[in-house]
Order: sequence, then C-alpha cells, then structure tokens
Amino acid sequence: MLIRVAYSSLNYKDGLAVLGRPGVIRKFPMVPGIDLAGMVVSSSVPGFHEDLEVLVTGCGLSETAWGGYSQYARVDADCVIPLPHGLTMKHAMALGTAGFTAMESILALEEHGLKPSDREVLVTGAAGGVGSCAVAMLAKLGYNVVASSGRAELEPYLRSLGATSIVDRDTIAATAKTGLATERWAGAIDSVGGTILAGIFPAMARGGSVAACGLAQSEELETTVFPFILRGVNLLGINSSSVPNELRRKIWARCSKDMPTQLLDSMTVVEPLENIFQLGEQILAGKIRGRVVIEIG
Ligand code: NDP
Repeated sequence: MLIRVAYSSLNYKDGLAVLGRPGVIRKFPMVPGIDLAGMVVSSSVPGFHEDLEVLVTGCGLSETAWGGYSQYARVDADCVIPLPHGLTMKHAMALGTAGFTAMESILALEEHGLKPSDREVLVTGAAGGVGSCAVAMLAKLGYNVVASSGRAELEPYLRSLGATSIVDRDTIAATAKTGLATERWAGAIDSVGGTILAGIFPAMARGGSVAACGLAQSEELETTVFPFILRGVNLLGINSSSVPNELRRKIWARCSKDMPTQLLDSMTVVEPLENIFQLGEQILAGKIRGRVVIEIG
C-alpha cells in the first residue's frame, strides 16, 4: 500500500536509529521512523480506498522496512490500520508506538486480573512517552496511579495526567536488592529496566503483574525469585512491533476510547523533521517530556 505521510513521531528507538546506534536498523539503506500516519495513495487491498486516513506503528518500520520519516511510504498492508474513530492523524502519532505500547501493557495486566482498586499501580519512566501515555490512560480507567520519575520538577505535569502520587526513581531502585518488601503495587508498567525494574518486584502485591516493555536505563535485570515463588508475581513481556493485525486494531480501539484527547494534546509537541537529530539526542538522554509528533507532509 502506498501512503502519503502526514505525521510521524519520536520514540526512543527513533533516537537510536537516527543517531546510528545499534539495535534498530538491520539493513542499509534505511529510512527511519517507526511510526507514520497518512492517507492512502494507492492500494490493492479491499476496504483501503484512496484518501483513507491510516496509521502504521512498529511492524519492522525503520528495522527491515523503510519508515515514516519520508513524504511517501510503501508498506505491507497487514501493518496498516484505518484511523480509529475519534482520532486525528496528529493524535494517532501523539500516541504512536508509545501509546500503543502503554495500552498493550494495560491489556496484558487486565488479562492477568488487574482491576481498579485501592491498591496502587506503578508506572516507571513516567515522564517519558510510554510512561506519560500509561499514566493518563490508567488514570482515565479509574486506577490509582503512582508515577515514578527522576525529574522532581515534573510532578505538576504528572499530576495533571492523573497520577495520585509521585515517587522518586531512586526510591524504587533502593528496594531492588531486598528480596521481599511490604506489598504495595497491584500492577506495574516499566519502560526503564535495570535497577528500576528490579526494584518493583519486592513490593508487588500477591498475584500482581509487571508489564516490562523497555530498557531506558538498562537491558540488565538482577533480581531474586522470592516475589515469583512466594507471592505468585507475574512478569509479562511486551513487544509492540510484531503484533497481529486483529490485536493491533483492538489495541488502537482501546487507545482512542481510553486516552483523553485533551491530556494527549497537553503532553505533546509538534516538531519539524529537520530537528530530528537534536531530538534524538534529547530522547536518549531522558530529556523529552511526553510525546513529540514529527510533521512530515
Ligand atoms: P522516553 O525517553 O520518552 O522515556 C523514557 C523515560 O525513562 C524517561 O523519560 C525517564 O523518565 C526514564 N529514564 C531515562 N533514562 C533513565 C535512566 N538512566 N534511569 C532511570 N530512568 C530513566 O522513551 P520511550 O517512552 O519512547 O521508551 C521507553 C523505553 O521503552 C525504551 O527503552 C524503548 O526502547 C522501550 N519501548 C519498548 C517498546 C516495546 O515494544 N517493548 C515500545 C516502545 C518503547 P523520568 O524522567 O520520568 O524518570
């Protein structure tokens, strides 16, 4: 399917790709940009007529297939999703892979029994893209959300998204080596890895689940088996790139229903493509707040 791209977005993986760091681009030449939203130019697939607004996230874009930092993109039809009802193309990219991953994590936690209750749900890396989307959507769903961040100055921002309290990331990391601590978290979404992820397990409540999707701090994980064998804690791996089309549509439908667009606007800035190298440096340094939409068309 040929798509005229209107917007893309900035994710951690885009930072790695545009700065030539390993782990994303698998072959050259490559057009980066793991997300795109635009209009169909030509398609041989029933139901995808010319000018239909569509989006693509992940699906190997910027890894093995040319991505969204381009005015036109030819993509595998299996990856293309008609724009969900209620979202503009700009909103779709404000969510992008980050919002998709946050909702995929929420669905995984729900499938493992998470329900809104008095117990708290922890979101780490909360001021980043995945984190901000997770905080806003969990809060909208009625969860009692605690945001873990290393940026104390962003407390008003995190509260505006719906966090009921804020915890410094060092406090989470401090429990990493304790084995078991007082039960606190009903569930957690972690985009950080390393000592932050390790610090979540000891304070997980019995039967609770952690959705692990990222490695902004580290790909390493040093922990003990105690939370798993004594409290039945679950560790759920999240991969947003290779999700079958039917589940993609379900996740996008939930994103459009459960992300308040006013909050999405408040966490998003729009930047021109020419700023991408500077933005890439910023996201890898943990300095981006919320989401960045990249204007292409
Ligand atoms: P962002 O940079 O927007 O967010 C990451 C956040 O992590 C930062 O804002 C910061 O939050 C925190 N952080 C950054 N560096 C450190 C550090 N050294 N120690 C502790 N905390 C840190 O990135 P994204 O939200 O786009 O992505 C986050 C991670 O999730 C990345 O590793 C990315 O590759 C991964 N990811 C995985 C996906 C999947 O399919 N599994 C899909 C999408 C993302 P704060 O300032 O609040 O502390």
